[in-house]
Amino acid sequence: MAFRRPGIYKTPEELRRMVAPGLLTAASLEAVAEAIRPGITTGELDAIAERTIRAGGGEPNFMLVPGYRHTVCASVNADVVHGIPGDRVLAAGDIVSIDSGAQLDEWNGDSARTFVLADPSDPERFAERERLNHVTEQSLWHGIAALAAASHLNEVGEAIEEYIESQGEFGILEDYVGHGIGRSMHEEPPVFNYRVKGRGPTVKPGLVVAIEPMITAGGIETFTQGDDWTVTTTDSSDSAHWEHSVAVHADGIWVLTAPDGGASGLAPLGVKPVPIP
Ligand code: MG
Ligand code: MG
Repeated sequence: MAFRRPGIYKTPEELRRMVAPGLLTAASLEAVAEAIRPGITTGELDAIAERTIRAGGGEPNFMLVPGYRHTVCASVNADVVHGIPGDRVLAAGDIVSIDSGAQLDEWNGDSARTFVLADPSDPERFAERERLNHVTEQSLWHGIAALAAASHLNEVGEAIEEYIESQGEFGILEDYVGHGIGRSMHEEPPVFNYRVKGRGPTVKPGLVVAIEPMITAGGIETFTQGDDWTVTTTDSSDSAHWEHSVAVHADGIWVLTAPDGGASGLAPLGVKPVPIP
């Protein structure tokens, strides 16, 4: 008997079931966005995200990752991803990436946003971090726009790299990549944020991927802190991380973790998302 590889393409009904967990994931990040300010701890932000997800009938899916006990990852300044929320008090000027995910009725959402906290005392550093954040978010929208037109998945990474290169000196992390998403948060296939050999799987209805560029203001080497989770740039350069879960369906694409399906982010790139039928 041969091994049946799990398919990466969802049915139309399965795509419809991914809408609610996507929106709940978005709500958890919106709640964080409303609360984040200097003086709050990353642990408090974690609690806010958890309350939002549970109030919506969902479960924080990061808690389903073996060994992880929190709702969000909170990665500050040189920490890129997988920072553990806790007692750290956020300060003016910090650049803070919050990654969150909800599971609802057995399906998953995964999304991340980065915030730069206003800092009147150091406008130059603030402007640099805002620029890094803007470029990272825009690289995500370029990747999503590429998916809308792609014949193969690896065109997404090409578009992200091409955009980042056009914006100046930034690093694209290569040790961590995006992924398929569905009944599990992390599924096949990998979603690269940079050019690779090979075209990747065919882009066709049923493909659902989490696209998540992790961009630094310096080098791309990282190490994992002693907590076994927090990933930090070796050269201590600042980093930002944006992520959306995106569905390809018969009539177009839809950003599951954006309340407007990605319409506002994609409009400048000439792409109009279409609700899942
Ligand atoms: Mg994530
Ligand atoms: Mg992810």
